[in-house]
Amino acid sequence: MVNKTKDFWVFVETNEDGTAKNVGIELLTPGRELADAQGGRLAAVVIGCNTDAAVSEANRHGADQIIVVDSEEYRKYTTDAYTIALVSLVEKYGPLSMMIGATNNGRDLGPRVACRLQTGLTADCTALAIDEATGKVAWTRPAFGGNLMATILCPEHYPQIGTVRPGVFKKGEETEEKAEIIREEIHVSADQIRTQVLEILKDMDDEKVDLENAEIIVSGGRGVGGPEGFEPVRALAKVLGATVGSSRAAVDAGWISHAHQVGQTGKTVAPKLYIACGISGAIQHQAGMSGSDCIVAINKDPDAPIFDIADYGIVGNLFEVLPILTEEIRKARA
Ligand SMILES: Cc1cc2nc3c(=O)[nH]c(=O)nc-3n(C[C@H](O)[C@H](O)[C@H](O)COP(=O)(O)OP(=O)(O)OC[C@H]3O[C@@H](n4cnc5c(N)ncnc54)[C@H](O)[C@@H]3O)c2cc1C
Repeated sequence: MVNKTKDFWVFVETNEDGTAKNVGIELLTPGRELADAQGGRLAAVVIGCNTDAAVSEANRHGADQIIVVDSEEYRKYTTDAYTIALVSLVEKYGPLSMMIGATNNGRDLGPRVACRLQTGLTADCTALAIDEATGKVAWTRPAFGGNLMATILCPEHYPQIGTVRPGVFKKGEETEEKAEIIREEIHVSADQIRTQVLEILKDMDDEKVDLENAEIIVSGGRGVGGPEGFEPVRALAKVLGATVGSSRAAVDAGWISHAHQVGQTGKTVAPKLYIACGISGAIQHQAGMSGSDCIVAINKDPDAPIFDIADYGIVGNLFEVLPILTEEIRKARA
């Protein structure tokens, strides 16, 4: 397809209550820079039902234009309805590039839309820029197991599409609402929707694990030694009001559920404080947490790579260090 504008689009995914998922608003931050660099407008595309809150949030975060499709058939995500709506918007308006949050639904929607439009998609980007030589978006993502970063261009097809995980970028400061709001009526008949959501199963883990929005995370790795080794990690998390994270090694060992995993194949997090306990700091773990404002590492090996990125390091046995730290914080808080 040929682009008709130089606009940069951000797909703002909505929840069932019509509010925006954080990642869509986060993506308006790099979207602003890329739209300016492309010489186009930054447009937020909101598809859902009762989306006023999402539209207003996108408006307060710098969108120049908001294209809204609001109808009952979009209350719950379905691949068919959302693909039909987004593809027809792209065909009508012809943006130059588009970003989609790499949520479960975004990872489903992005490739389907790219395929329908016969264009490329770079998944799970961690950095974005405009390539000086070609003027195309340079989508950077981990490759070969995270051991190197690959920068990918989509030189001949439009729109250039990429997905970005939640938490990679931060929401920008709120600004004055200035967006042009365009409402489109796109209806999808029931027989065009070939799949039906019968039941949503909750995570087997009872705890709510909202790592992406956590301000403090205390994570445990293989160094905790077993499922019971997470007890001192949880105790510290409790006094700090933190969320419990983990490395993949602890998840693979079955000591904690995947919902807690931080890293390349887990969640990308950017808390104010990240405390890594018994985690060596493999590149794939760092890929998910190196954007944290302050990193504290507790590890008995002084040469562990986690100390290379830590702001504060404690060389010691976590089973000795954590109870002392927890008690001191409890006392200080009291
Ligand atoms: C494609 C791919 C994707 C991956 N994705 C991820 C991912 O998303 N997230 C992730 O975390 N990993 C991921 N990995 C795995 C990654 O390479 C590492 O194997 C993993 O992060 C190691 O976990 P760990 O640090 O807990 O374990 P280890 O590397 O075994 O480190 C354990 C650490 O605990 C310390 N320790 C031991 N006992 C104590 C104690 N009593 N007190 C204090 N310190 C102690 C040790 O000194 C050591 O440094 C991925 C790998 C691949 C190939």
